[in-house]
Amino acid sequence: MIASPADRERVIGIDIGTTNACVAVVEGGVPMVIPNSQGQTLLPVMVSVSEQGRRVVGHLARRQAVIFAENTATGLKRLIGRKYSSHAVRQVTDMVGFRLTSGGNDEPHAVLRGENVTIGELYTTVVAELKRTAEQYLNQPVHKAVVTVPVCFTDAQRQAVREAVQRTGLEVLRIVQEPVAAGIAYGIGQGESKPQRIAVYSLGGGAFEFTLLSLRGSSLEVQAQAGDPTLGGEDFDRRILDWLIFGFAKDHKLDLRQDRTALQRVRDAVEKAKCELSSLEEVSIEVPFIISSGTSEPLHLVRTLPRSKLEELSEDLIDRTMQIARGALAEAGVEPQEVDTVLLVGGMTRMPRVQAAVQDVFGRTPSFTMPPEEVIALGAALQGAALVHVSEPPAASVPVPPEKIAVQRALGLVVAGGNTFRLIEPGSGVPCDRRHIFSTTRDSQTGVRFLIVEGNSERGEENKLLGELLLEGMRQAPRGEPDIEIHFHLEENGTLLVSATNLETKEQRKAQFATHALDGVSSQSPGAGGGYTLEMKPDEELARTQQGIERLIGEIQRLLPRAELAVGASDMGMDAVRRARAAVERAKIAIIRGEPVVLLDTQNILRRTAVMLRGVTGGPTR
Ligand code: AMP
Repeated sequence: MIASPADRERVIGIDIGTTNACVAVVEGGVPMVIPNSQGQTLLPVMVSVSEQGRRVVGHLARRQAVIFAENTATGLKRLIGRKYSSHAVRQVTDMVGFRLTSGGNDEPHAVLRGENVTIGELYTTVVAELKRTAEQYLNQPVHKAVVTVPVCFTDAQRQAVREAVQRTGLEVLRIVQEPVAAGIAYGIGQGESKPQRIAVYSLGGGAFEFTLLSLRGSSLEVQAQAGDPTLGGEDFDRRILDWLIFGFAKDHKLDLRQDRTALQRVRDAVEKAKCELSSLEEVSIEVPFIISSGTSEPLHLVRTLPRSKLEELSEDLIDRTMQIARGALAEAGVEPQEVDTVLLVGGMTRMPRVQAAVQDVFGRTPSFTMPPEEVIALGAALQGAALVHVSEPPAASVPVPPEKIAVQRALGLVVAGGNTFRLIEPGSGVPCDRRHIFSTTRDSQTGVRFLIVEGNSERGEENKLLGELLLEGMRQAPRGEPDIEIHFHLEENGTLLVSATNLETKEQRKAQFATHALDGVSSQSPGAGGGYTLEMKPDEELARTQQGIERLIGEIQRLLPRAELAVGASDMGMDAVRRARAAVERAKIAIIRGEPVVLLDTQNILRRTAVMLRGVTGGPTR
């Protein structure tokens, strides 16, 4: 695996949502979400105090909440950085099972088993758990983080988040707005020079947020934003829950809401059913021995829920999100059809009806290639890697001619093997012109794709991708025979004009890119490995690598269940299985991102994983 400088620095990307939190890191140039020791990638944002007075967080807290709702803090994102007397805190007070009180300074405190705890402290507990997960997985301490917050967060809220994260010992490199992080994860702006409008539709467990971003140069800016902080997946769950409870009451004259444990079991079954309905047309909700009527046999809850019923029950919720989105667009004076890209964020956007509604409004298929619950953390990790990368001392120690503006970051091409071929070196004065003749690397190659990068790293994937240029229609010839001239012209304002000319036919392709070559700073863009997000034209070699990866993923997925059985519950064995799963997830992302160098790395990792699993299970599968 190629260890980029960004990898060695280990900056984690943190996303704390209303219901779930997620932590990610960039490894081998690819962003990946870090699973905990049980393989879970989402941490419930809940903190509970146990009977023994121990503070528990995440899944454990969620389990305790069934019986000890009054000792379990939830809704932390709605509370952080707010005043106790604010309307928002009053609203939360009505929604949650634990008590809130006013500490000094009008600061809300949670009262958990009689102990007053600040919201910031509880938030720190969640972040500390994410940090621990990351350190355990990476097997090394982590010191730096990029953290995401909603667009609507005020300075006070952002500051409270910053302080809560810093209390864990992490340095906050940057606070990024959530939709901007999503845009970064999707590689928006990489190599693009034309302005773009990007809509981010985010529907998570507890909140809805719609954002219109505009891309200018390589910078993503918020143009419009609207949302409902109390509308989310939990409302969908509640609709199903009410339908079930009402049906049960009609049949048995019993109100399940009176029994806390029964109610929590139904809640869990409801959420599971809702999620399953994103891929199935119908599910059966079964909660056996739900309650005893006192006089007869125990009762079971069994009900079939078709997808159409869920859609009927939640139609108005989806409509409301669309109204909010339309309102925000109208305020910005933008028609839905004028939006270039629509990104889906948040677990609820897995629901097919939500996706269809978004498509109806915008008249285009939304982008859904990244896991929507993880995409923000992935973007934060990419931003972190980029920040560490650009903050390194520039490799250019070449003296700068005093009378001229000098290039700070090299400009060049990625060549076979993944290295950067520099046409314009750091220290060059501007304007400047450089030419070089390239050729093909394979026999009968009729097209060449040039990846144009900015940065001082030798490795292509560690530089920022500015864009690409494709020269096609070349004569079939032995490799190395065709002559293609690449010409770079850098202007004083940082604009780079690139042309590729087939010297035999004089066929020419031209493109223009905005660069940061002169100021040495790359804004917004993921520098390390985050650059190659443009889809590559699948040339033969790339296609072969991708197919190899897909075959290996298939084999690993077939081997995994057998491996799990074979290793039993041994820690070492389960760790190997967990790493194999993580390798598969990273490989899927690598395929989406289509970065040649990273794909080769990924293939090697998968090969090793497959060999390991074959060893554990006693042979390959077919
Ligand atoms: P998030 O806040 O992004 O983690 O999203 C959490 C919400 O997404 C919860 O309400 C989940 O029930 C919901 N969710 C997760 N997966 C799915 C799915 N496959 N289909 C529908 N909703 C889902």
